[in-house]
Amino acid sequence: MNIIVQKFGGTSVSTKERRKKVIQKIISAIEAGFMPIIVVSAMGRFKDPYSTDTLRSLTSDEYKQCNKQGLDLLMCCGEIISAVVLSSELNEYGYKTIPMTGGQAGIITDENYGEAAIIEVNIKNITELIDKSIIPIITGFQGISKKGFFTTLGRGGSDVSAAILGGILKANKVEIYTDVDGIMTADPRIVSNASLIREISYNEVFQLADQGAKVIHPKAVEIAMKYNTKLVIKNTLSESSGTLISNEYKEVNTNVITGITCMCNRLQIIISSSENIDSDYYEAVFDILADSGLSIDLINVFPDKKIFTVDEEDGKLVHSILDAMKLKYYHKEYCDKISIVGSGMKGVPGIMAKVLRRLRLENIEVLQTSDSHTTIWCLINNKDTTKAIAALHDEFKL
Ligand code: ADP
Ligand code: MG
Repeated sequence: MNIIVQKFGGTSVSTKERRKKVIQKIISAIEAGFMPIIVVSAMGRFKDPYSTDTLRSLTSDEYKQCNKQGLDLLMCCGEIISAVVLSSELNEYGYKTIPMTGGQAGIITDENYGEAAIIEVNIKNITELIDKSIIPIITGFQGISKKGFFTTLGRGGSDVSAAILGGILKANKVEIYTDVDGIMTADPRIVSNASLIREISYNEVFQLADQGAKVIHPKAVEIAMKYNTKLVIKNTLSESSGTLISNEYKEVNTNVITGITCMCNRLQIIISSSENIDSDYYEAVFDILADSGLSIDLINVFPDKKIFTVDEEDGKLVHSILDAMKLKYYHKEYCDKISIVGSGMKGVPGIMAKVLRRLRLENIEVLQTSDSHTTIWCLINNKDTTKAIAALHDEFKL
């Protein structure tokens, strides 16, 4: 059986008009000889009646903090509405469909509400439908715990649902439909002349996604890579062939840089060493932060100071830990981390120098840098982010 998984994001299913385009994509897949397995997100964005963020906003901040299980149950409603509505509309075109929750589709997760991890997938219900040529319309972003409670997979989790189903069902490919033509050299909302990347390796797209390009969830890329499933990112509203992510991609790209992305709301922490500080504590600070479950990055260690960044949301926790340790430190707020990604930069000298020269030319202060074989990171003040991304996009002729 030639299975294709097609996932439609929030904007794709937001109106009847757009859902007509969704239906066209499904019919095209059927006409091309595929058995489609459909995964849907909740309709629209914040303020649209059934979007995830609108549903979340129906509860108080306290409830969100204290009753994550209840919040997940509420958030699961958005995808359920999308799945039933799309199912009913596809029936009007004469196609047999069954809408299913993540749990009914066999996605079993742990009980980490709001950010649950998939531990098992039981495809029995889906394969029964496939055998009868009935199209399953599955709610993305959700699963069920072993005890039967609804769970959600975290922001962008419908991509993860699609990728895992594609992998387990040995799909020919997984198509992720969204509101842009595919993966671009930068977020088109930031760089209006960003260009479409036609083919890209799992590794590069993982870097871009992990460092803030929300066009695809990094976990979905990881899963597709593990199962060696072809992933295609496409626009519901256009006929563009999109971006193909696979291992077949031979790096024909002559650019050293593939794309630029950014992660907002970073807090830079600078801890200075001093004679009055217990040196054991000073040396153990990273272990103590890790034991509190904090994710820190851009770690630079010097004889007289240690520097790192955290998500601003974790700022309070970091302050309380460092205060309790009586360490001397200060922080810089309003930072964004720019990531310049490209496997073509491996072994090419002078890329960091080029980045820094251009940012200096634009009068942009660089607060911290780091690099790996395929990525250069720069921490800057968020007032400069748009200008920096546009300038680097221009510098590397993306
Ligand atoms: P969906 O609801 O379909 O999952 P998302 O909002 O999650 O859609 O992802 C699509 C958005 O990702 C685009 O509208 C775009 O602004 C943003 N984006 C960020 N970086 C990139 C990039 N490099 N290429 C394409 N889109 C990007
Ligand atoms: Mg998304």
